[in-house]
Amino acid sequence: MSIAISDWQTHTDDKGVLWLTFDKQKTETNVLSASVLDQLNALIDQIIEQKPVAVIIQSGKKSGFIAGADVKEFLDVTNKQEALIMIKRGQNVFTRLEALSCPTVALIEGFCMGGGTELALACDYRVALDDASTKIGLPEVKLGIHPAFGGLVRSTEIINPLKSLEMMLSGRALSARQAKSIGLVDLIQPARQIKRAAQQMALTKPAKRTLSWPGKVLSLPGIRNLLTSFMKKQVAKKASRQHYPAPYALLDVWCKHYGNRKCMMEEEANSVARLIQGDTVRNLIRVFFLQTRLKGLGDKKSFIPKHIHVIGAGTMGGDIAAWCALRGFSVTLQDREPQYLSNAMQRAHKLYARKYKTTHERNAALDRLIPDCNGYGVAKADIIIEAIFEDKDAKHAIYRDIEPRMKPDAVLATNTSSIPLETLATVLKNPERLVGIHFFNPVAMMPLVEIVKTAKTSATTIQQAIAFTLHIGKLPLPVKSSPGFLVNRILMPYLVEAITLYDEGVSPEAIDKAALDFGMPMGPVELADAVGLDICHSVAENLSQAYDIKVPDGLEKFVTNKHLGKKTGRGFYKYKNGKPVKDRDADLGDQKMIQNRLIFRLLNESASCIEEKIVADKDLLDAGIIFGTGFAPFRGGPLNYSLNQGVDTITETLRQYESRYGERFCPVQGWKLIEE
Ligand code: NAD
Repeated sequence: MSIAISDWQTHTDDKGVLWLTFDKQKTETNVLSASVLDQLNALIDQIIEQKPVAVIIQSGKKSGFIAGADVKEFLDVTNKQEALIMIKRGQNVFTRLEALSCPTVALIEGFCMGGGTELALACDYRVALDDASTKIGLPEVKLGIHPAFGGLVRSTEIINPLKSLEMMLSGRALSARQAKSIGLVDLIQPARQIKRAAQQMALTKPAKRTLSWPGKVLSLPGIRNLLTSFMKKQVAKKASRQHYPAPYALLDVWCKHYGNRKCMMEEEANSVARLIQGDTVRNLIRVFFLQTRLKGLGDKKSFIPKHIHVIGAGTMGGDIAAWCALRGFSVTLQDREPQYLSNAMQRAHKLYARKYKTTHERNAALDRLIPDCNGYGVAKADIIIEAIFEDKDAKHAIYRDIEPRMKPDAVLATNTSSIPLETLATVLKNPERLVGIHFFNPVAMMPLVEIVKTAKTSATTIQQAIAFTLHIGKLPLPVKSSPGFLVNRILMPYLVEAITLYDEGVSPEAIDKAALDFGMPMGPVELADAVGLDICHSVAENLSQAYDIKVPDGLEKFVTNKHLGKKTGRGFYKYKNGKPVKDRDADLGDQKMIQNRLIFRLLNESASCIEEKIVADKDLLDAGIIFGTGFAPFRGGPLNYSLNQGVDTITETLRQYESRYGERFCPVQGWKLIEE
């Protein structure tokens, strides 16, 4: 049966080289769906018949080469057999591509991920564009799997396993230069030469890349065992086997089968077929789609700000300004006196030193960040972010001062955590331009930004705030203006429960272990210490006025004694060199009870937020809590977790805890809406 080739174009040049251009129809991004692979398979039949001098594979998309396999197809897989059919399709096509008698070249421009990199590895040579847009990697572990189309076999055959395994275990994307330095690509070229270079390579057929001798030594059976157990220990520091089995499975395939290509291919497929059936993969794919959804909430092109003005150079304002300059914007940073700006400038120096390799890039970013005590930037800013301390009158004074000087169409954003926007807007002549752009601390690390709207905020202002958030590489989450918005509101009962447990005599180590075992990135006690117990106290007090939250006595005592957590060297833990000193012999108590008390408070508050429509739907709530708090991504978010457990089971446990520990565990009405 002949297959219609719609996603690939072919062209033979004057040297007899066949150019295969991948341009998947009706989409902006090239992904390797089953149909795309079948078409490539049919093209390989034609190539075998027509015997071109060489084959060069390139992309017809501006956005990049290939983003990977079509992950939507993973969700249709219901059993191991179906998984194997899907995987073997990719493996077979790439094995046939590799076996072609003519030279094959992958010409990589822009991103090249997962299945795209596996396709490139099946070619004889790889030529990449020497440009910041080029990103090459095998990030499958981020979806709970590992390469399955032969990428694990082929990458470890040509790249030192220290490098290839590290790349796959971290899921990190490499720049063109990094890819060249580890041997993932053979040649990097600027745009004007890349096509000629690829053609040249195909025609001259230089020797193909093989493993260097250190790589060969590290791949010897005994050393492989040692390296594997070392790498597993490194992985275990970041991800447990129980929650994230993929990196361990990847190492097992390499350790047990390297050297026997056929067997390793077989096991690469079997291993992923096993992984793909687990809940982790389904939930991590969900997280991937949630991220895509947040990115799709706005249109970057609809608002392209040129100048950002930030008022308040403290913890938040200073870091927001530095981040915006890092992302290429011209930024003015205002505070009361020059002395308040120096800390922020020093932190910006540190951030740029971490993020940029060259002095030129660092200096360019510093040039974009302009100290501006007189607030000259107000008049030319397209967006003004107010991040002065949490005081209504001080914020009002600022707004009165700047509104007459702002450009008529400029956006006024506040980073307030707790003052209602409606109150802040009262002094504005034009309240429809006020929006909350609520960043999280530390700004450089936290991907989420809450976009807070009031009934008066105009639709244009909201869209501009969302577009700006996307421009600076953060994920926007529109939320209703209400105390704590979404993330702090849901996090606070969880933190308060942790401190209540502490007040009851449970050790901080036991509390943190229970949360870590659930899959949280950091225990709540350590988190409270890191945020600062004074800040936790003030947020808790604020929320206690609106909701049924009692500020625990333990927290009050720490604040009174000025033991404010990590920043003062003492909080729930004592700190040595910035690290908490934990008691290894601490009594771990009833771990199940501790875990349930923490997590069920968080789940119950999530259901309340649905009831009060703090966000538009359940998926957005899950996205907010995953990207705003790091909530166990492999569980797919608090509401997804609740649905998987069964809402009846959750509410039943809540009732038991209510009778044992008090009314705060009473299941809220919102649960009735969760299953709809
Ligand atoms: P901060 O105390 O660290 O910094 C406030 C800065 O504002 C100080 O440098 C101060 O000099 C400056 N300032 C005060 N009045 C000013 C004025 N009239 N003109 C110019 N500058 C002035 O505070 P922060 O922690 O950065 O918080 C700032 C805002 O961000 C608050 O609204 C807070 O609720 C919110 N927020 C804080 C966090 C957090 O974790 N700290 C997280 C999210 C949001």
